[in-house]
Amino acid sequence: MTGSRHAVFSLICLFAAAPAAAIADAQFDKALAQQADTAANRRKLSQPAPLNPRQSGNNTFQFALANGLQVLVIPDHRAPVATQMLWFRVGAVDDPAGISGLAHFFEHMMFRGTRQNPDDTFSQTIARNGGETNAFTDHDYTAFYEQIAKDRLPLAMKLEADRLANLDLSDAHVGPERDVVLEERRMRVDNEPQALMGEQMRAALHLSHPYGRPVIGWAEEVRHIDRVSAQDFYDHHYAPNNAILVIAGDVTPDEVRKMAQDAYGKVAARDLQPRAENAEPPRLAESRMTIVRPDARVPLVSRIYRVPSYSTGRPGQAEGLETYAQWLGGDQTSELYRVLVEQKKLATDAGAGYDGNARDAGEFSVYAVPRPGVTLEALEKAMDQVLAASAAALPKASDLQRAKTGLVASVTYRRDSQFALASAYGQALVIGLTVDDVNDWPARIRAVDAAGVQKAAQLLNRKEAVTAYLVPGGAK
Ligand SMILES: [Zn+2]
Repeated sequence: MTGSRHAVFSLICLFAAAPAAAIADAQFDKALAQQADTAANRRKLSQPAPLNPRQSGNNTFQFALANGLQVLVIPDHRAPVATQMLWFRVGAVDDPAGISGLAHFFEHMMFRGTRQNPDDTFSQTIARNGGETNAFTDHDYTAFYEQIAKDRLPLAMKLEADRLANLDLSDAHVGPERDVVLEERRMRVDNEPQALMGEQMRAALHLSHPYGRPVIGWAEEVRHIDRVSAQDFYDHHYAPNNAILVIAGDVTPDEVRKMAQDAYGKVAARDLQPRAENAEPPRLAESRMTIVRPDARVPLVSRIYRVPSYSTGRPGQAEGLETYAQWLGGDQTSELYRVLVEQKKLATDAGAGYDGNARDAGEFSVYAVPRPGVTLEALEKAMDQVLAASAAALPKASDLQRAKTGLVASVTYRRDSQFALASAYGQALVIGLTVDDVNDWPARIRAVDAAGVQKAAQLLNRKEAVTAYLVPGGAK
């Protein structure tokens, strides 16, 4: 329940493999508030920097090609392997009106081939060379990656550059892939009561903001995707000047600069469709819903609050919310679990989560699963007592310390993975944050004090929330 709120992974659908870990990891790596993704910032990002790699702290290097492709290099010499990630500043928020799911569909189309590398030549070639490839789409971005032996990195770059410029978007490819996406939706959302519930809750929570539209799209709208909409999307979003290339691995910045210039330097910049500045209209009342599904295995009470993100919050707010979520419901030592599961014995599970990794609003969620015989109403009341108590009093110093240590340790542990490292930086950069924001994150979490956690608890406003009950029942 507390997992990634809206990421949808690619056609190869390694749902439990690397991308899920990457998203989860990156949730810890968001960064500072002042660095809002303003129009001015985005313009700055799209301007080419000098070709000489510039060290950007913590052993990372940044430069840009003349066509506007931004490059981040993270040398990692532990093994002769490399991770290439290409992050595009396009996601489900950029889906045209009436065609939700287009960004995610397009991620699939990128695996459908070019004239030079038709059909699944891309994936086959990577696999034949011992590598792995996949992709994922979220509201704010779309990313593609390959993990491969260091000496095959130029090959992976050439293939990626080819599909950036020469994708085959014929009807013969668009129709069948649309069916693949509709099947993916059936499997992952329509047949998963908790996923359906999350979708309905977010549609209510975000009002007119496109964070309320599912990344995978409403089925009725996915059916509207055709060759023309796909071509238009490709022409106005897939361009070197709309992408960030992240290379982590057994490479030097100079090697990457030469390889990137060879492979991507030939791809021309394109006129981009400007991203909409989406407003977040005020919510005047809380929303509630009860969803009755014959396929629900257990009842559940769940609530999502609209809260500040690392991009929109004031300094320290997102860090406070992140720490509060861990203290409140991050694991089995957390407050919600202790009170609802262990002390009051009302729940079999309970938890909380914060997703502040967004260009616009973040989300704070809480949930609990009742023990047999306990009503959702009684459980919600007990959950609200825990929330109210945390807004009224400071957390115990030892509990706060444990929460912060847990958060920071999990990031340090995850960053041991080259892929997670590349993901953390790529995700931060693509939503308008900086390398320093990623590097400073552990220190900023350590600096959160008891008052910061209490302030985070006080940020949770019922008018800014949707509460849902999931109830097993109804006709099969
Ligand atoms: Zn997919």
